[in-house]
Amino acid sequence: MTSLLSDANQRLDKALQYVTLRADAVERLKMPKASLTVSIPVRMDDGSLRVFQGYRVRYDDSRGPTKGGVRFHPNVTLDEVQSLAFWMTFKCAVLNLPFGGAKGGITLNPKQLSKFELERLSRGYIDLIADFIGPDIDIPAPDVYTNAMIMGWMMDQYSTIRRQITPGVVTGKPIPMGGSLGRETATAMGAFFTIQTLMPKLERQPNSTTVAIQGFGNAGAVIAELLFHAGYRVVAVSDSQGGIYAPQGLDIPSLRRQKEATRGLQAVYCEGSLCNWVEHQIISNAELLELQVDILIPAALENQITAENAAQIQAPLIFEVANGPINSAADAILESKGIQVFPDILVNAGGVTVSYFEWVQNRSGYYWSLEEVNQRLQTKITHETELIWATAQELGCSMRTAAYVHALKRLGEAIQAKGTQEDYQS
Ligand code: NAD
Repeated sequence: MTSLLSDANQRLDKALQYVTLRADAVERLKMPKASLTVSIPVRMDDGSLRVFQGYRVRYDDSRGPTKGGVRFHPNVTLDEVQSLAFWMTFKCAVLNLPFGGAKGGITLNPKQLSKFELERLSRGYIDLIADFIGPDIDIPAPDVYTNAMIMGWMMDQYSTIRRQITPGVVTGKPIPMGGSLGRETATAMGAFFTIQTLMPKLERQPNSTTVAIQGFGNAGAVIAELLFHAGYRVVAVSDSQGGIYAPQGLDIPSLRRQKEATRGLQAVYCEGSLCNWVEHQIISNAELLELQVDILIPAALENQITAENAAQIQAPLIFEVANGPINSAADAILESKGIQVFPDILVNAGGVTVSYFEWVQNRSGYYWSLEEVNQRLQTKITHETELIWATAQELGCSMRTAAYVHALKRLGEAIQAKGTQEDYQS
């Protein structure tokens, strides 16, 4: 199998066809600046000791301290973390945030650990990466299966090590520990603003648009609810256990409440009260991706649409809320079918944007209202979406390539400002 990082690099190669970048800058962007692998010993509740593999990768810091989430998942590998750090580099540049890209992860199934064990693991991870991170070096945040409480433990541990309260070292923290209002919903909110900005350009109306969403977590469930309230018909959603499909549309707010109570989507429909009045079908995650809907939103994990299933995808519009849900081989197939893909580095950038707002608030010690956060997020996302749309129209390329071109120009300027071969020769 091709490595995720080399797959990610293919997007870079494609965008380079449209941007004149000096060779030095291209060379710099091909590999991460630094990758750290750690073994984290954790005393388990039964007294035994387990050692978990963890990673932190700082991909490029030409535009500022690096920024990116920490993921707890059984499939975490160094390759995955490096490719996620690559995407973060471009995502921060797409949104014009003063950050480079990073990512972290620990290979484990967090559902098998108690809260006490998760706390010891999170603190142990920070003990080992403390010299690699910092408010002016690298700033972690939540990602798959990590949340505000885990970020709070991480910030607390870092502050203990440094002997000073350092809220700006981690974002996505609980509000009383210096978190920002609006951070929990920011990824979905950003995706929503992107969709709303593009709908008129795509000549579509919300109330005649059907949507299927893979993943019903922090990102997927919130975007489902925002779209539901805006009048879209959300007909299918799924989680790791499978999905449900109701062509007449799902009542997303009830589904979220039930999911929180039962922790499973299928249980909601098979055992809960909704079962009685919503005609539905149980579907697999693979079936969800192939539904005939207007908008498909992958909001779970990467590599969900590949050369193997791309030909079966029917949705004309795909908004990537997950990071890297479509690989580059699938990109070509989808493009040949006329399917428009709106890329992760734009669509899910709301999370890192409000993380940036959180970092700014931590450093200034002055905190904003929810309205201010959402207003600033909307302004930023709408502005960059408009610019990328204009680039795609001008170059006649996909929105993905346009987003990379947009980011590459900013990254190139920062890397080249330090001097390139041309400067030294002259
Ligand atoms: P989460 O842990 O809150 O939710 C993940 C969801 O995916 C859960 O509903 C889970 O059941 C489901 N899932 C797991 N494996 C699955 C599978 N094989 N098939 C279908 N569903 C599956 O995570 P999240 O924060 O919502 O992140 C989801 C995606 O969004 C990830 O790709 C993440 O990198 C990306 N993202 C998240 C943020 C953020 O701020 N949370 C920001 C940017 C990007």
